[in-house]
Amino acid sequence: MSTETIIEAKNVCKWYGAFQVLNDINLEVHKGERIVVCGPSGSGKSTLIRCFNRLEAHQKGEIRVNGITLHNKMRDVGDVRKNVGMVFQHFNLFPHMTVLMNCMIGPMWIKGVSKEEARKTALQYLERVRIPEQANKFPIQLSGGQQQRVAIARSLCMNPAVMLFDEPTSALDPEMVSEVLETMTSLASDGMTMVCVTHEMAFARAVADRIIFMDAGQIVEEGEPNAFFTNPQNDRARQFLNQIL
Ligand code: ADP
Ligand code: MG
Repeated sequence: MSTETIIEAKNVCKWYGAFQVLNDINLEVHKGERIVVCGPSGSGKSTLIRCFNRLEAHQKGEIRVNGITLHNKMRDVGDVRKNVGMVFQHFNLFPHMTVLMNCMIGPMWIKGVSKEEARKTALQYLERVRIPEQANKFPIQLSGGQQQRVAIARSLCMNPAVMLFDEPTSALDPEMVSEVLETMTSLASDGMTMVCVTHEMAFARAVADRIIFMDAGQIVEEGEPNAFFTNPQNDRARQFLNQIL
């Protein structure tokens, strides 16, 4: 594994009003590393990864992503976001655009790529997630699993340095979970740097280099999957695993 650091969080804290949602988070994600973040609902998982592409702002500590320090006075969050792909629970595709256009728009508008080039890249990644035949449909005409694969393809079209996933299979019907996990697994085996918030523990075991367990805004346990699953040290982590496994 490379030692190049893609994400570095140092003593990161964040509050919503008086409520502290992130409490002294320290995390490094290296190039090619696959991290799974898990923990109970409300523990701050979404907030943490949303801070990594500046969808949320932290108030204390330091976050560097792909060499850029995130802070309040930064001129252009676009510089960060174009290098950070994000896949959400509810797909968040543009409903009024075709699948193909969903994939073309980012590279054209944000990276200034030509229409022909954007189309070529989009088709290549739709092929990659195995739905090239859906290119001219609108999101609503696709199943949830297909929509989520479009969302992944759309992110890949930006050629991101890291992909963030926020419970990408939680809103899917059970029979569609595996097609999305397979796509993610295949990305992982291609060497993509990934931070995945997920409760899919079989995926975590198979793919993660490291598991981060959060509770009440803190990372309370961190380790390689085998140690985490067979011998968690933290009480809350043990309890969590007992509930979901
Ligand atoms: P998780 O993803 O682990 O379920 P979140 O990061 O979504 O947790 O939320 C952590 C805590 O912060 C929760 O208690 C949630 O209610 C609170 N929270 C999340 N977003 C906001 C917001 N925009 N304003 C106020 N509180 C929020
Ligand atoms: Mg969440």
